[in-house]
Amino acid sequence: MFYRVLDPLRRRLGFRLSLWYVLVFTLSNAALFALTYYLLAAAIQDRERILLEAWLKQTALLYQNGGVNTLREWMQSQPPKLQKSLFVRLLTGTNSVTLLNVPEEWVSFPDPSRNPADYRPDQDVVIRIPGDDERELVLDSAELSDGTLLQIGRSTANRETLLHLLRHSFFLVGGVTVILGFLAGNFFADRATRPVRQLVATARSIIRTGQLDARVPARASQDEFDELVRLFNTLLDRNENLIRAMREALDNVAHDLRTPLTRLRGTAELALSPGTDPAAAREALADCVEESERVLAMLNTLMDITEAEAGMLKLNREPVDLCRLVREVVDLYQYVAEDRKLAVQTELPAQCMADVDPNRIRQVFANLLDNAIKYTPAGGRVTILLHDEPAQAVAVFRDTGVGIPADEQAKIWARLYRGDKSRSQRGLGLGLSLVKAVVEAHGGRVAVSSQPDAGATFTVKLFKQLPAR
Ligand code: ADP
Repeated sequence: MFYRVLDPLRRRLGFRLSLWYVLVFTLSNAALFALTYYLLAAAIQDRERILLEAWLKQTALLYQNGGVNTLREWMQSQPPKLQKSLFVRLLTGTNSVTLLNVPEEWVSFPDPSRNPADYRPDQDVVIRIPGDDERELVLDSAELSDGTLLQIGRSTANRETLLHLLRHSFFLVGGVTVILGFLAGNFFADRATRPVRQLVATARSIIRTGQLDARVPARASQDEFDELVRLFNTLLDRNENLIRAMREALDNVAHDLRTPLTRLRGTAELALSPGTDPAAAREALADCVEESERVLAMLNTLMDITEAEAGMLKLNREPVDLCRLVREVVDLYQYVAEDRKLAVQTELPAQCMADVDPNRIRQVFANLLDNAIKYTPAGGRVTILLHDEPAQAVAVFRDTGVGIPADEQAKIWARLYRGDKSRSQRGLGLGLSLVKAVVEAHGGRVAVSSQPDAGATFTVKLFKQLPAR
């Protein structure tokens, strides 16, 4: 039963922290107390010894000057309290007692030794009442010139009362502080760890309900937990966006694959239907090959983007003259551009070197030129510029086409995103995602600036040499 109550508490970080805190606090307090207690007890003991020695000297002097009677008179002149706490005994050489002052309560003490040899100056003689831990009799003695033995003793009851009070206060005050410390510690630790519990509750609710929009409530303070909450919420935002994008991407891929695959199937069925002319069958099969290549290209592009974004795209970097790559893609698109009545111009320096994978960057340039041609109406112009910056090579693809509205400019890099105006054009919405993923895999950057109906400019920056890591 007790364990069942304690177990959930035990699992709370705040509770465990305060337990540890209290344990350390109690141990260090106990150590401090033990030290103080020891030093205090030793100091009191020293003081008592000095006092006892002073009394011994004084009483010895009185006896030597005036004999037993003077000593007795002196005793009687002392305050009653002192009389009651002092033990004074005079023993003559024959061991007979000539003066004895023993308070009543001391009757229970065993008789102190009468042998002078038992009293050494460097050591107290202590007699304890049997069965009484608190009261002791500390004795000192002196052998006087006439052979008399003078014994003086004092009870340690006062010291014990003081030390007892000290112990008592320590346990009382210590106990109260430990309990208060534990309660306060638990309260503050509980408050401090609340974000962690909210974090757990949010994670649990997401796992249980699958609702990705749950977030941990943010606080105003700027501590580590707040940072954790902020990062956790950002992570959830990203995950939500990613999952939404993946769902959309999957829907789009399914949608985009359905049409070519249906077409593929139709064409294949046509080729297989009995009585088809062999020439028509051949043509249908050629269409099948073309269509499946399109599907394959789309899947490959998707794979490339995923790999590049995950940093797993294999790049065969080498120093490459980007002018060569630009010329190659311009050659490749020359007929398409002519067909669409577009002028493609280049402004290239003698050489523009960069440390890149030529095949991948050729793919990037081809995609940018392909888009520029696709989204520029007949009669327009596409210009490709290359120039050097201190550490980077810069390629600019500028067209005089339809342009991109400001609110679309951030979205065009997303997979399968297609602008509203581009629906009439062929395309999968993967080109710019691949461009961005490949350029960033090279450590470079790509950016767009555009005005609707005033064309678009894409700028790619690539390192001439890989920066040292
Ligand atoms: P796709 O061209 O297959 O649609 P992309 O990823 O290459 O896919 O481009 C995404 C979108 O960005 C396009 O649908 C289009 O709206 C816009 N876009 C890209 N390049 C240009 C350009 N040069 N001019 C105008 N819009 C462009």
